[in-house]
This record gives sequence, C-alpha cells and structure tokens, in this order.
Amino acid sequence: MTSAQASRTIPFFNYREVFARHEEQLVAVIRDVVRRGAFIMQQDLERFEVRLATYLGVRHAIGVGNATDGLTMVFRALGLRAGDEAILPSHTMVASAAAVVMAGGVPVLIECGADHLVDPVAVAAAITRRTRFVMPVHLNGRTAAMDAIGESAARHRLQIVEDAAQALGSRFHNRLAGTFGRAGVFSFYPAKILGALGDGGAVVTDDDDLARLIRLHRDHGRNADGEVELWGGNSRLDNLQAAVLDLQFDGHDAAIARRRELAGQYHRQLADVRGLVLPPPPDADAVHYDVFQNYEIEAERRDELREFLRSRGVGTMLPWGGKAIHQFASLGLSAKLPVTDRIFTRVLMLPLNTTLADDDVDAVCGAIREFYAC
Ligand SMILES: *Cc1c(COP(=O)(O)O)cnc(C)c1O
Repeated sequence: MTSAQASRTIPFFNYREVFARHEEQLVAVIRDVVRRGAFIMQQDLERFEVRLATYLGVRHAIGVGNATDGLTMVFRALGLRAGDEAILPSHTMVASAAAVVMAGGVPVLIECGADHLVDPVAVAAAITRRTRFVMPVHLNGRTAAMDAIGESAARHRLQIVEDAAQALGSRFHNRLAGTFGRAGVFSFYPAKILGALGDGGAVVTDDDDLARLIRLHRDHGRNADGEVELWGGNSRLDNLQAAVLDLQFDGHDAAIARRRELAGQYHRQLADVRGLVLPPPPDADAVHYDVFQNYEIEAERRDELREFLRSRGVGTMLPWGGKAIHQFASLGLSAKLPVTDRIFTRVLMLPLNTTLADDDVDAVCGAIREFYAC
C-alpha cells in the first residue's frame, strides 16, 4: 500500500465538516436570526415547515425538538391507550420503541428481512387483539415494504406511524417515505441526511386534526391564542435550527445524488468480495429509491475486519452500538428474534456521507479487499 493510503484517515462521520463546509453562509444565517432576536417559533421555523411540507407533498410539517419527541407526541395525539401494542422492528434505534413506552404503550419487536428492514410477514404474524399501531422504520434511507405493511394495517384497522428519521427523500413506488401513514417523523440530528447544528425533528401528516394536536403538544398544550387546551410538553424546533436547516435544505437533492453515487462505488468495488453481504445498490429495482443514510453491510469476521480498518485509519460503526433493542437486557424484553440476532453478529456500517471523496471510498474498499486477501 502507498504511504498516501497509509496516512489517510477516514472518520465514520466528520461533525466539524457540517459547519466548515458552509461556514460563511451559516454564520450569515445565524447572525441574521440572532440579531432579529428571533429565537422561538418565528418566521424561519414557519418557512422551513412550509418548505418541508411542499417537498414531501403533505399538508402539514411541524417542527419539533427531535424525532423521538415527535414519535411520542404522534402516539399521544392518536389516542394511544395504556397497554396498546405497537409493532416495530427490533433493528432500529431504541428511540423508536421508547416513544411507544413514553406514550404508555407496549412495543412489540419483530424481525427484519434480508435488506435489514422490517419484515412485512413478521408484521402480519405479530398482530394481536391489542395491536393498534404499526411503526415501519425506513432504515438506512430505504423505505420499508409499504405495500404489504399497508395491506396488513388496513385489514386489521391498525394505524401506521412511520419512523422516517433516516429517510428524507427516500421513495417506494415513487411515493416518499413519511407520507404513507397517519404521520411520518423525521430527525435532523447532525449526522442525519439533513442535519442541524444540534437536535431537531419534524412530524408530517395530511390530517388537519392530528397536525393541530401536534402543534398543541409541542408547545405546552397552547393554541395560537395562548389558551391551554391539553397537557402538553415543550418540544419545539428551535427557530435558529430551522433557519440553519432551511439553508442546508438547498443542498438536499445534491446530497442524495452524491450518497447514491458513493453507494454505487462501494457496490462496484465490493460486490465480488466473498465474506460480505452488501445492501441493494442504487437502482437495484424499480420499486425502491434509497437515499443511503448509512451503508450497512454484513461481514464475516466482522470484529477483526473492524479492527483492521481502524488500524488503517478507517472509522466504522456498529448500528445502535452493536445491539438490537431486544438485546438490551435492562429493558426486560423477551422477544426471540434469531434472524436479527444473527445479523447483529455480522453487521457493520462503512463511512458514507457527503464529505467523503471518491478516493476515500477507494481506500476503504482497498483495505477491505486486503483484509479478505482478494
Ligand atoms: C436518529 C433516529 C431516531 C431518533 O431521532 P432523534 O431526532 O435523535 O430523536 C429515531 N429513529 C431512528 C431510526 C433514527 O435513526
């Protein structure tokens, strides 16, 4: 290997770069907002909400403090009662299940399929008399199989709440993630595909009544007149973050295009490596349009590979720190999920974000090929 490769370091995600890339424009936006004293629920938030709703083709987008709060508020607003069951994959951030619990419900964790997304057959099999919700998670920027999930939900009168935290711009049969269910929830955590300089999220819906309730829930239960209509919390999308997101949104389509390009490069360079299972490449089929929030592979001798890549300056991550939700013993969940268990002995996320250069991908793939001696 050349010395240039040896000295290259490729972090899994470059947080500083989020700011550095657009420093001048971001500083101008921040200065403008702060000088106006426009801190809470001002025009910048409204403008971003309208823009997001327009992009998604939905009637309402409501900025909230983060996606976890957004999901929790959706379950409350949809009238989740104590003991109601919500079906969701165990391969997701603990936040998805925590939202159900925080709202008083019972998360029912199920298997994922070969593409690591919720298995629609497992959804149908998990339905009981107490099931009221299904929460597909559009993991890694790929939209779940919303045709089959939608059929199960319709047959059993379940409400669909989409965890679209990783999937802004992802499509299934040309329909955007987050627009299939009663509501969809997005995250603007800095490392997400559209990232803020801190926490942020949004709830989107076509339902006027639900939108009104979310607006109440995020702001102490208060309506536009200041009248308190219900017990609510405080989970507003910060006006400054909304202004930042509005600026970052200018580059969203280009970011998706670049992510798909990088995923294509990984696929071309790694498809023949025995010992790896890769995610479906971009344009693998006419149904999915994936935005590659993450590039999540399965690897034989995963931990050794990870250590080898670390020694070559390549940062990788295990999803959720290496455990699916049902594997966190302290949560006391009893689900038996052998497919997910096996995936979690093999799963690994390679760096994929818009700060990556083409030759970064070459270097990562070169190191992986070297490890497997091919
Ligand atoms: C990031 C993420 C969340 C939580 O989003 P926050 O905005 O950090 O609360 C929930 N679900 C999934 C799948 C995520 O990736």
